[in-house]
Amino acid sequence: MAHLYDLIIIGSGPAGLGAAIYAQRARLDTLVIEKAMVSGGQVLTTYEVDNYPGLPGISGYDLGLKLREHADKLGAQFAEDEVERVEDGGPGAPKRVICAGETYEARALILATGAVHRKLGIPGEEELAGMGVSYCATCDGAFFRNKTAAVIGGGDVAVEDAIFLARMCSKVYLIHRRDALRAAKSLQESLMALDNVEILWDSVAESIEGSGQVERLQISNVKTGEKRKLELQGVFIAVGITPESRAFEGLAEMDHGYIKAGEDGITSAPGIFAAGDVRTKQLRQIITAAADGANAVTSAERYLTEH
Ligand code: NAP
Repeated sequence: MAHLYDLIIIGSGPAGLGAAIYAQRARLDTLVIEKAMVSGGQVLTTYEVDNYPGLPGISGYDLGLKLREHADKLGAQFAEDEVERVEDGGPGAPKRVICAGETYEARALILATGAVHRKLGIPGEEELAGMGVSYCATCDGAFFRNKTAAVIGGGDVAVEDAIFLARMCSKVYLIHRRDALRAAKSLQESLMALDNVEILWDSVAESIEGSGQVERLQISNVKTGEKRKLELQGVFIAVGITPESRAFEGLAEMDHGYIKAGEDGITSAPGIFAAGDVRTKQLRQIITAAADGANAVTSAERYLTEH
């Protein structure tokens, strides 16, 4: 029979690591299951983080490592495995986490699996992925030195990506479907100050073309209907995120794939808590993810005491 942990935390981004730190302090017998041995989640691919208190301008990768080091220092236990599904025995009963490698059991669970990049779903996107189409500017930007690239989207990630790419690309187009950006005002100010970035407002990408590698992007203006073909080598897609919750279908109530939970992390399933980007919430940031981890452990502790 598998060892019965007090708590299993699934995911090792800021929410999962925040929870791991609080669980160690609460002396709960805890296991963190992470998909890859490099902790940090989406943070790892963020070039620069300028809004985490006390660490202005830290690289996302360094912040991910720091969070992991902190959990390690407190003695958190990690397993590298991919969760396939969860079986819930009900209130007070063990919860079984069935992974690709092993099955683990705990009295309580914190789901902190975060989110992944959303796809655009246009012709050429899938065919040319990795051949000029990318979802991660910090990972792939260096391939486009002195070349032309486009970023699609108008949120924090799209604007951050455009700023990052402008340092190495000769020209960057930012293609946004509306006439106003969603990104933080400070990011917008940095973007507007760059003279090799051109913003194409009210524009949507229709197809990505090229034989073996990206050569052109077909766009269309949603107000005028005007179509235009941009000659370029890179297309960075930053149109939002989608929650990583497939393994939890049927386990707890969800809303558009996000696990329904308040700030306390309490879901519709007793003993199962949600933290970070995977839960329904207003503000998805590193600071709110880390705070979610702390709150979810506090709720889990209360549940474990009661059961
Ligand atoms: P986001 O804030 O949801 O923005 C997605 C952008 O893509 C929006 O501008 C949206 O347009 C556009 N979009 C969505 N679907 C589209 C489609 N089919 N075609 C064209 N455009 C489309 O997503 P994100 O930028 O990936 O950020 C994800 C979360 O992480 C957000 O909560 C963000 O605040 C957070 N984040 C925080 C930081 C930070 O704190 N430093 C950094 C990065 C990200 P509309 O504006 O018209 O909806």
